[in-house]
Amino acid sequence: MWIKASGTQLADALEKDIFVPVDLAAMSSEILAHPERADEPQRYLLQEGGLKPSIETCLHAVFPKRVVMHVHCVNTIALAIRTDAVAELGKRLAAFNWAHVNYAKPGAQLATLVRNALTDTVEVIILGNHGLLVAGDSVEEAAALIEQVSAALHADAAPKAPVDSARLQDLAGDNFEPAQPDDKVHQLAMSTARIEKAIGGTLYPDHVIFCGIGAHAASVGESADAYCNRIKQIPHFLIVPDAGVLWRKDITENGRTMARCLSDVLVRVPDDAVLNYFTQAQDDELLDWDAETYRQQMNA
Ligand SMILES: [Zn+2]
Repeated sequence: MWIKASGTQLADALEKDIFVPVDLAAMSSEILAHPERADEPQRYLLQEGGLKPSIETCLHAVFPKRVVMHVHCVNTIALAIRTDAVAELGKRLAAFNWAHVNYAKPGAQLATLVRNALTDTVEVIILGNHGLLVAGDSVEEAAALIEQVSAALHADAAPKAPVDSARLQDLAGDNFEPAQPDDKVHQLAMSTARIEKAIGGTLYPDHVIFCGIGAHAASVGESADAYCNRIKQIPHFLIVPDAGVLWRKDITENGRTMARCLSDVLVRVPDDAVLNYFTQAQDDELLDWDAETYRQQMNA
């Protein structure tokens, strides 16, 4: 099986060699018998040369179909983070052979849940607090499914509110700088309901890897320095209510991408929706994970 390498960007696939071959038969037979081995996908690598297979390799290995695509689709996540996800997804996915799988740490644990949810006909899996997984017999078939599911789950973004660049600059202090005025990340700051959802905790795994647990918001009128002194840490980015978002000066590109993802997701979540957040243990198991440490290093 060819799988994307950990720490590489799918967007680079046409210019760079970012896929690596793994022994599919060996891996899929070990997911149940030896999950701790399946969680080290580099054991199954069939070539030398530096790049490691994706952390999510075994998620792809449980499908009988030839092409498996996994994406963190914004429209999917906006529903998959809700406590009423299954009912809301059911209203929109009647035309698909689909199944929902509760959140588990990416890797063998999650792959086992997916395998248990599969039947002969299931071709779409919604991963709770995570994303979308589809399978087909060709690239075209799988790609079309991604498009169709994303369209069926589409939600319009809330209208954009204007950024207060002057206030952001005033409050930024030494550690932060305002995001560019046209950056969509600012919309995180533009409604009280959205801010509360953002700071409530972690909503999906990649966020905690690149941005830490949940998000942070200053109080109205509070400077970034005052906020950091109060909580005794300097978060990757800081929401300034009704003004916009400040980047920590050393935030990584993946950190910015994940903050923008949070904005993309939350502008599609109704104010009255109730969300599922990670427990402390679920945050910790991602932050302590060797495989994720490797991905963070690649990112740095
Ligand atoms: Zn994923």
